[in-house]
Amino acid sequence: MKNCDHCGTLILEDNGECPFCAEAMSHAVETFAPSAGPPKWLKVVKWLFIGLLAAVLVAVAAVTWILNSLGPMPSFG
Ligand SMILES: [Zn+2]
Repeated sequence: MKNCDHCGTLILEDNGECPFCAEAMSHAVETFAPSAGPPKWLKVVKWLFIGLLAAVLVAVAAVTWILNSLGPMPSFG
């Protein structure tokens, strides 16, 4: 018996692979810090918000550019 070098989990076989670390490695891509990290939906909402903000900025920039390009033209009034 030995303890895992990484997480300290007790491993029955001396040359055995730590089950906790093996599972953590397989899940490392989707959840970097499973216990302490923020929930997944929060990340999705954050990126959704950033995307919405970017879309609004692009829309405002487009409207501003259109208004500026129309500016020199004589008004219809
Ligand atoms: Zn381990």
